[in-house]
Amino acid sequence: MSGGRAVLIIGAGIAGLSAGIYARKNGYDVTVLEMHDKPGGMCTSWRREDFTFDYSIHNLAGSGRGSGLRKLWEELGALDGLEIIDYQEFVRIEDQEGRSFTMYSDIGRTAAEMRRLSPGDEAMIRKHERMARRFAGLDLFGSAMSRTGMLRLLPHLRTVMRLGKVTLEDKAAEFTDPFLRRAFPAVQYGFSNMPLIVHYIFQGGLDRGDLGFVKGGSLVFSRNLEARFLALGGKMRYRSRVTKVLVEGSRAAGVRLEDGTELRADTVISAADGRSTIFGLLGGKNKDQLIEDYYHSGWWPKDQEMGSSVFLGVRRDLSDEPHALSLLLREPISVDGGKLDRLDLELFDARTGLVPEGKGVIKVNLPCDYDRWKELSRDRKMKLQAKKDIIELMISTLERRFPGLAGQVEVSDMTTLVTCERYTGCFRGLQPWGSKRDQSRISRKGLSRTLPGLDDFYMAGQWAEAGVGIPTAALSARRAVKAMCKRDGIRFKG
Ligand SMILES: Cc1cc2nc3c(=O)[nH]c(=O)nc-3n(C[C@H](O)[C@H](O)[C@H](O)COP(=O)(O)OP(=O)(O)OC[C@H]3O[C@@H](n4cnc5c(N)ncnc54)[C@H](O)[C@@H]3O)c2cc1C
Repeated sequence: MSGGRAVLIIGAGIAGLSAGIYARKNGYDVTVLEMHDKPGGMCTSWRREDFTFDYSIHNLAGSGRGSGLRKLWEELGALDGLEIIDYQEFVRIEDQEGRSFTMYSDIGRTAAEMRRLSPGDEAMIRKHERMARRFAGLDLFGSAMSRTGMLRLLPHLRTVMRLGKVTLEDKAAEFTDPFLRRAFPAVQYGFSNMPLIVHYIFQGGLDRGDLGFVKGGSLVFSRNLEARFLALGGKMRYRSRVTKVLVEGSRAAGVRLEDGTELRADTVISAADGRSTIFGLLGGKNKDQLIEDYYHSGWWPKDQEMGSSVFLGVRRDLSDEPHALSLLLREPISVDGGKLDRLDLELFDARTGLVPEGKGVIKVNLPCDYDRWKELSRDRKMKLQAKKDIIELMISTLERRFPGLAGQVEVSDMTTLVTCERYTGCFRGLQPWGSKRDQSRISRKGLSRTLPGLDDFYMAGQWAEAGVGIPTAALSARRAVKAMCKRDGIRFKG
């Protein structure tokens, strides 16, 4: 394949790498510019002594061979040579009195758990089980890959909309059993306000054998995409921070790098953070009211769920533990200025490829107050002390569940929203947000796939879609390259 029209892509996260692969497959001459020295953006992991601390992929939609979304990963070669681990247990929730509820991958087993705990709720549990099976049959993740997939959803739209308005907490209130009422809101990574529809989509997907874990972790997945891009003849420039998109008339004509180098192109695709792209690299000239509201409404949570992660590399075999565990605490603990009555853990044993035999990683996901950590990060000593205090608090709180833990921790680390912002440029560190009103508009058309008054420019990734996820980022890139091909009269090759 010879080079074609020149395309510059800003960012080597999942969106940037995917855009690069699709653009090469369609004959473009592609260079990806990444400010770091490695690919992946948020989809990353790092090594500390014997341990790999994994930041992102806990569950990958489309990992199952029967999933419609698997085609996306096959087009990208993302899973070539990688092993997927399908866990039987999605998450186990325990209290300190010895009660537990497990959401299994198997719908019937999850329903049996509900019956065991709350036998008086048979009618409601049967309805719940039926709904989960309905979504298992729909393959909602895969529907995004084809028009027929989308059409198949049409008869179910009303249900989807209805369940989008009910939260996990609302659903939990329907159980008679007080433990299940407390446990159920924790089933989706602890996001208790998550719409119930997300739970059904996950439970359905898991039952179909989808949503596996990528052995080796997030950076291995990103490196696979990088390898595919390079094998297709793409050019990668690391340590190349873009500081400006060059605009001539009404078209994007190239970029300027931090060192002053100017690179010209026929098309620029930004797969970087949306706010810095629109208001920084482009000076805020190309926006509409929706974009303005989205980035300046101040509509973001004070305590962002999963905004901080504590990593403990332990000399302890975790192979008998579930992959995800929520611990309901008897007494709330004070963390980061707030009270927590639950700890959400991810547990990694040797099978994950992240640690040697006999060792493990315990990752604790915590809410994060971005403004507090931004303030703390102005004083390195204070920031490190604050992290140390939280790590120690986690170890002492977990000691009861994991006796002897304090003596088994070999290495630890902690990330916050500010870490993620520094590492990826991602504004306020984690994920897009937006008012409910904006979100429903955005879910139809994305947020900033193209920008008003700017030709030859596309955006891809979680900021263009205003929705998170590895598949979201890759699908967004596919969409951007498809639009570019259409503009150029090229029949898109996936
Ligand atoms: C804790 C956590 C857990 C998650 N778990 C899951 C999960 O289990 N499953 C799932 O599907 N998703 C998960 N996600 C979400 C997923 O990781 C992200 O949505 C996805 O990786 C975003 O990809 P992206 O390419 O859109 O953006 P990013 O990863 O932010 O990539 C942007 C890239 O652009 C680069 N960049 C930015 N500005 C510039 C510039 N000026 N010049 C050059 N380069 C620049 C950055 O360095 C970065 O590499 C998780 C996210 C987090 C934070």
